[in-house]
Amino acid sequence: LFPLLFTPLRIGPALLKNRIMSTGHDTVLPEDGRVSPALVAYHRARARGGVGLIVLQVSGVHETARYTSHALMATDDSCVPGYRQLAEAVHAEGCKLFAQLFHPGREIMESADGLLSVAYAPSATPSERFHVQPRALSREMIDDIIAGYGAAARRLRAAGVDGAEIVASHGYLPAQFLNPQVNRRQDGYGGDDAGRLRFLREAVAAARAGGGPGFVVGLRISAGEEEGEGMDAELALAATRALESELDYVSLVAGSSATLGAAIHIAPPMALPAAYLAAQAARFKRALSIPVLLAGRINQPQEAEQLLAEGQADGCGMTRALICDPELPAKAEQGRHDDIRACIGCNQACIGRFHRGLSISCIQHPQSGRELEYGEQRPAAAPRRVLVAGGGPAGMKAAVIAAQRGHQVSLYEAGPQLGGQALLAQLLPGRAEFGGLITNLERELQLAGVEVRRNVRVDRELVRRLAPDAVVVATGARPRWPALEGGGAMPVLDAWQVLRGEAVRGGKVLVADWRCDWIGPGIALRLAAAGHQVRLVVNGTHAGEALQMYVRDHLAGQLQRAGVAVTPYARLYGHDDDSVYLQHTASEEAMVESDVDCLVLCQGHQAEDGLWEELSGCGAELHAIGDCLAPRTAEEAIYEGMRLGWRL
Ligand code: SF4
Repeated sequence: LFPLLFTPLRIGPALLKNRIMSTGHDTVLPEDGRVSPALVAYHRARARGGVGLIVLQVSGVHETARYTSHALMATDDSCVPGYRQLAEAVHAEGCKLFAQLFHPGREIMESADGLLSVAYAPSATPSERFHVQPRALSREMIDDIIAGYGAAARRLRAAGVDGAEIVASHGYLPAQFLNPQVNRRQDGYGGDDAGRLRFLREAVAAARAGGGPGFVVGLRISAGEEEGEGMDAELALAATRALESELDYVSLVAGSSATLGAAIHIAPPMALPAAYLAAQAARFKRALSIPVLLAGRINQPQEAEQLLAEGQADGCGMTRALICDPELPAKAEQGRHDDIRACIGCNQACIGRFHRGLSISCIQHPQSGRELEYGEQRPAAAPRRVLVAGGGPAGMKAAVIAAQRGHQVSLYEAGPQLGGQALLAQLLPGRAEFGGLITNLERELQLAGVEVRRNVRVDRELVRRLAPDAVVVATGARPRWPALEGGGAMPVLDAWQVLRGEAVRGGKVLVADWRCDWIGPGIALRLAAAGHQVRLVVNGTHAGEALQMYVRDHLAGQLQRAGVAVTPYARLYGHDDDSVYLQHTASEEAMVESDVDCLVLCQGHQAEDGLWEELSGCGAELHAIGDCLAPRTAEEAIYEGMRLGWRL
């Protein structure tokens, strides 16, 4: 079915069983810079699922490389047992393991003790995104860091890790040396192309010497850092070509940590097309003879197979696809590709949780990152009859897990379609792929053998008649309409009405956003595209405050380009015929927006918990999950559904 994807790939001395890779990504699972049992369990699950190569998250090569409090560190020999445990776990499943040798240079995010680490870079060129003013590296520190690459490779080799790649991607230290806009040195590590390449050349040589024969050494580089002062694709390709004879492979991504616009490529969201870096990779493929690995929104085996067939890459990084479905390789190989739970590029629980300091997971597969707790699903002690009322994400997931554990599950949805609020969320601009979440859950329901009844509203009489052993109330929520002062003739709609196509009248529309999630900015963009003059008034500090930062920053750019005016710190309290009354959330001062033709409310949700009240005391075992219990993100709702399904 996927003949090229399952053709082994030789990378230097290592032979991979297939061309599917999990590329390096932060998990927040290490503890005190060391491999933890949770990290071993996380990667073991992917190795069991059939992936050919796992590249571990970054390992710092020097004390100044501690860019977050939860990075792995390969700076002393005490790291070896942890890496060994990981290597043994992964090897037992026939998968190879590489590590990433890392120094962030000026891209420091935080430090372990709350005091920002001192950042070092080739020159004292500030970084915009983290507002960091680095110190220029001395020659002694450069020597020390280069020695760190060698020592880290030696430790990894001692642990049985198969290889390592130098992280020169995303504007990190080796990329800072390569980039003439960041590197202003004139001392042999800068000044001209050869000087700017010297740091990377020496890092590769040190890793090669430290790893010794039989140890793979590769390069991770951005095929273009895309925006701002980033290194362009020509420079990245020239550097790779110059070092090609020293390297076993190159692994391509795009973007840089240094600016908001370029950082989006670190985990490209659904707004970017599938396999969008294919053309860049093809240029590298044409110019190089070492294997070229590519990542960037490669979600499905079909896309990966096509990249290989067209000669654009030799291997495919499908990292988030594997976070979402660790069994993707096995399913693809067995021809069960319709059963793959496809990643939708939402970034909510994978990198979104990383940016909140939480361990990795997936909105659609909450077991990810929680393998120690939820890795081995146990059958129910005694199969029971379970009735789930509500076909939104929480109810669907609870039904799936309960049925997988052996319960006899019926899911009742009052409307004609499953999906709950995800049905509406997919209608927001650039969010169509969110609907994939429904497709995936519907497939899971089918595979688990859940009986699905649409257009049936559950009530006390139905429950009495069916007499299930347990009832799960997952009836969701409706839009919240706050009590507003004034009134008048101004038309007022809620976000759901707009998404369902109700007419928004007049030229000037005020969108009042309370949750600061997707809905307010999405509605604003949709109305701006329809020709309205839009002001987005947000209760928080900025639009999309609650969203994952790459997604939020991308949205900020979209709003600006669409001409949407944004007012932060604003609380809605009333309106009349043509004015909307607001209050500054910090100063409490009144603010008025005049000449408004229409007000659109994005004011969160109100629980639909009537069934819960109705069933109280009916004798059935009752559970409530999702929005009918409390406002939930899709991530929270699905996690809650999974947990309940596990417990029933
Ligand atoms: Fe993909 Fe979203 Fe899951 Fe991340 S949270 S792996 S982007 S589906």
